[in-house]
Amino acid sequence: MRRFAEACEAIAATTKKLQKIAIVAGYLNSRSVDEAAISSVFLSGKPFPAWEETTLQVGGTLLWRIVAELSAKSESDLTAAYRKTGDLGAVAAEVLPEHAGEGVSLLEVSNLFRQIASARGPAAKTALVRDLLSRATPLETKYIIKIMTGDLRIGLKESLVEDAIAQASGAPFSRVQRANMLLGDIGETFRLAVEHKLNEAKMRMFHAIGFMLASPVDSPEEGLSYFADATVEDKYDGIRAQAHVADGEVKFFSRTRDEITESFPELPDALSGLPDVILDGEIVAWQYSSELAGSPEVVDAPLSESAEAKAPNLGRARPFSILQQRLGRKKVSEKVLRSAPVAYLAFDILYARGDLLIDCPLRERAQILDKILSAPRGEHRPARGKSSPQGSLGFDEPRPTTFTAAVIRAPTFRASSPDELETLFAAAQARGNEGLMIKDLSSPYQPGKRGKSWLKMKRELATLDVVVTAVEYGHGKRVGVLSDYTFAVWNGDQLVNIGKAYSGLTDAEITEMTKWFLDHTIEDQGFRRTVEAKIVLEVAFNNMMKSNRHDSGYALRFPRIIRLRPDKSPQEADTIERVREIFERQGSATNP
Ligand code: AMP
Repeated sequence: MRRFAEACEAIAATTKKLQKIAIVAGYLNSRSVDEAAISSVFLSGKPFPAWEETTLQVGGTLLWRIVAELSAKSESDLTAAYRKTGDLGAVAAEVLPEHAGEGVSLLEVSNLFRQIASARGPAAKTALVRDLLSRATPLETKYIIKIMTGDLRIGLKESLVEDAIAQASGAPFSRVQRANMLLGDIGETFRLAVEHKLNEAKMRMFHAIGFMLASPVDSPEEGLSYFADATVEDKYDGIRAQAHVADGEVKFFSRTRDEITESFPELPDALSGLPDVILDGEIVAWQYSSELAGSPEVVDAPLSESAEAKAPNLGRARPFSILQQRLGRKKVSEKVLRSAPVAYLAFDILYARGDLLIDCPLRERAQILDKILSAPRGEHRPARGKSSPQGSLGFDEPRPTTFTAAVIRAPTFRASSPDELETLFAAAQARGNEGLMIKDLSSPYQPGKRGKSWLKMKRELATLDVVVTAVEYGHGKRVGVLSDYTFAVWNGDQLVNIGKAYSGLTDAEITEMTKWFLDHTIEDQGFRRTVEAKIVLEVAFNNMMKSNRHDSGYALRFPRIIRLRPDKSPQEADTIERVREIFERQGSATNP
């Protein structure tokens, strides 16, 4: 582990990508294949390969407590150290006694990570973590903690590790990248690369492939300016989900690549009987129209005029705030299933019956998706989730039809002029959707890329003028500056918090604001400060929901700072009445 940690220090010490890659490649080549495979996983900032569902389940608080205990430092010493870097691993290296721990090997760390993951309960986990950290040197502890918290912060993305594997093994980068995407295991990718067996890598189902992302456009003209042959879909306000179907098993993965099947126990059945596929789509809170209520089956809407004609019959999306009650739940009550039904709006297909389709143009993928979703289903095997969702709900078979969900082929439209696009945009918003997605029919599926082949067109719901009430130190390149702002609106003569945002201001503005906030702090709470309510910001957001997170009773989805409003006094900031008004308007726009 010492050599690993030293390599990480060297990687952190240079900002040059090529140098980072060369250091990683040199380090990997200096280790045994087993150690280099484990190191590849650790260097991508993870304790376990991506495809595994294993997680450590060790929170920052537990680590903080153990570092405090092993270093015998006071809370305020730790907080002071933390404020400098915002990184508990770095804090540990600073506060632990120099000669603490005799050192641990990489294989020991890897084994202990597995034991920690399988240990039940905080006491068992704490004992194992304490054992590990008390044996490691301060420098080793620094990187063990960073891996445990999921971010090395040495400017090394997984793609650079892929680059380094290519360099270390002499294999082309594209083949290393492809094998890692298929396997979801950068350690195994290393092994295959050095054994010259990358072509043996096969798609491993049930780990998420990177999601293709979209770039924003500001006008219908811009929306049609990047490519000739565009297909247009509604932009649904739900959560992105990749569905994997194989051997009668169905799992859904979120954009953060976490498995979310348990939160949507009615969805696997909607996909059962499909051949082995990976679909891309959006899970949306859905109002089933009466035609669909009894038998929400697959609704096919191929690339044709008829798609538009069919759209009204599919039912319609409901606001994100309704879907919210479905998120992050391990067990979903019958009441919630009843009050917040969902649908899976499928818009792409990445894999079908043994073939990876990402290199096919969207035109072909769309046809394959249409065909697969409209074909009669194969023998109907009940979809198996890992933990039988029906079982956990305690329903007797057959389940009530009200809990059946649909997979719906997201309707596609064509637009050849800005006017047509504008009309589709208005129609999408009238259906309660956020706006439009405009996609290049000749483009391949580019996992993890935000390019100009997928464009998103939406308008801000509204903006709010808010007053900053508390500030926090940032992370990454924002370490040491106060860049995270909690903000409020007026409720009578009281300011009530409604959100927190950290993006949107320039570095110069943040530097200036940091100075101002340091001079106008009311209470220093460590890495957070309450400040005088003088600064007004204009913030945009995608959506508003009721929430207990802030004392206003509302929260904003994806809040971002548009600009500082030095021209406004705090008294001129928005009120809770206006917040309610926006919330109601959004509900009535999206609720039939
Ligand atoms: P944004 O989150 O604003 O960057 O917009 C991109 C997101 O829109 C995607 O990650 C999806 O979750 C969502 N989305 C909704 N409808 C679609 C669609 N038809 N095609 C692709 N993405 C969609």
